[in-house]
Amino acid sequence: MTQDVGIPEDIRDLVRGITQGLLEFVEQEVVPLEQRDKDILSDERKLFDERGFLVERAQEARREVRMKSAQAGFYAMFAPEGVGGGGVPARAMALVQEGYYRRLGPGRLYAGWGKGCLTQPPVASFVDGPSHMFTFAPEPVRKEYLPRLLRGEKTVCFALSEPDAGSDVWSIKTRARRDGDDWVITGTKQWITNGPYADYAIVFAVTDEEAAANHKGGITAFFVDTSWPGFSKDAAIRIMGHLGSDCGILSLDNVRVPGDYVMGQVGQGFQIAMLGISEGRLAIAASCVGLSQYALDRSLAYAQERKSFGVPIAEHQAIQFMLAEMAIDIFTSKYATLQTAALVEAAVQGKGRLPVKEISIVKAYSVEACQRVYDSAIQVHGGMGLTDDLPLNEGWRIARTLRIPDGTSEIQRRTIARQMLRGDVTF
Ligand SMILES: Cc1cc2nc3c(=O)[nH]c(=O)nc-3n(C[C@H](O)[C@H](O)[C@H](O)COP(=O)(O)OP(=O)(O)OC[C@H]3O[C@@H](n4cnc5c(N)ncnc54)[C@H](O)[C@@H]3O)c2cc1C
Repeated sequence: MTQDVGIPEDIRDLVRGITQGLLEFVEQEVVPLEQRDKDILSDERKLFDERGFLVERAQEARREVRMKSAQAGFYAMFAPEGVGGGGVPARAMALVQEGYYRRLGPGRLYAGWGKGCLTQPPVASFVDGPSHMFTFAPEPVRKEYLPRLLRGEKTVCFALSEPDAGSDVWSIKTRARRDGDDWVITGTKQWITNGPYADYAIVFAVTDEEAAANHKGGITAFFVDTSWPGFSKDAAIRIMGHLGSDCGILSLDNVRVPGDYVMGQVGQGFQIAMLGISEGRLAIAASCVGLSQYALDRSLAYAQERKSFGVPIAEHQAIQFMLAEMAIDIFTSKYATLQTAALVEAAVQGKGRLPVKEISIVKAYSVEACQRVYDSAIQVHGGMGLTDDLPLNEGWRIARTLRIPDGTSEIQRRTIARQMLRGDVTF
């Protein structure tokens, strides 16, 4: 299935074991729930309420999947051991994501939302569950909240972006002011994945105007319980033709947060956010490699089966070139992602810097490659490629969507250029 000659045997074994286990988990635990809840999962009009929020039953099914996955050891496997996670290293993470996305494809992961509703929850990411950011969690959060997150019983969200601040993180308007021992937070957060459903939120707010204006700290990360007074989940944002989503708008109106619920140090929020986002960028790159492979697998099969002018379309050079372009994109994104993951592992072991430039390179490249791959896959399939009978248009929509979160393609290029101009010109 894969050459991966540079990957040590122990990592390969780990990846094989996890990927196989995860796919079996889907068959044994997720598929029966999908059958049980087929009526809502097969119709977005029943899956979402009129505001675009997942109906209660779907949320409950997701919770069931998370908790079963946690018991089976998959849910928090990518979180570090120090916070109670599985500590799966970055290369293994990348290969597991790749294998999972390749096998399930966009149709089982996202399509029509319903079909993807229960295949996303088995593995937590930094936008909904335990992650590297929790190494900064203060004692009360570690004691009281983290165990519930690790069990998959509760979820969290990453609340950084705002209506007027997406790429330009430093311009967030949410403010936290001291009041005795507490902090009081006010502001609006937008585009927050899992925001409509999260039990807790990591909220980023300005605590020092001058430092934030000079991009020298001044933003603090707070752990907030979304049931606390003043916190509201205002809306779910409908994206790319769907009737609802995971993405939402949150508002905080004088939400009182205990002083010891600060993640890390006061003023350290930007670094904590970047730690989470870096994890997300690498995971997106890896999942795009898998999604792209799914599209190529389908295209290779279809091209050999579908005939035109008396021969399989695979015999036309125009089709061969599209298949070859897909392979070029997949090979490049896969090995760039694995190399970046190896650099991340080295950084985690204190043997090098965090590969900021490389993480941006693979996030931008893999997502854009994935979109090219799906565009070609649709073309290879002709009219069939556009239908909802195949998940290819959904794959295209996913790739198109992923060019925005965790830093747009333009912001990745900005980061790459700035890193090089600061002297990081190693490759
Ligand atoms: C599906 C989805 C999920 C998301 N999940 C989360 C989440 O969980 N938590 C969270 O906090 N946020 C989340 N986001 C928000 C996401 O991080 C922002 O949408 C993203 O950073 C872009 O911000 P923006 O939408 O405000 O666009 P803007 O920042 O307004 O950018 C608009 C355009 O200008 C370009 N641009 C901006 N600045 C520059 C520059 N300096 N140079 C060149 N071009 C520039 C951008 O690339 C873009 O093309 C999510 C977004 C989406 C779509």
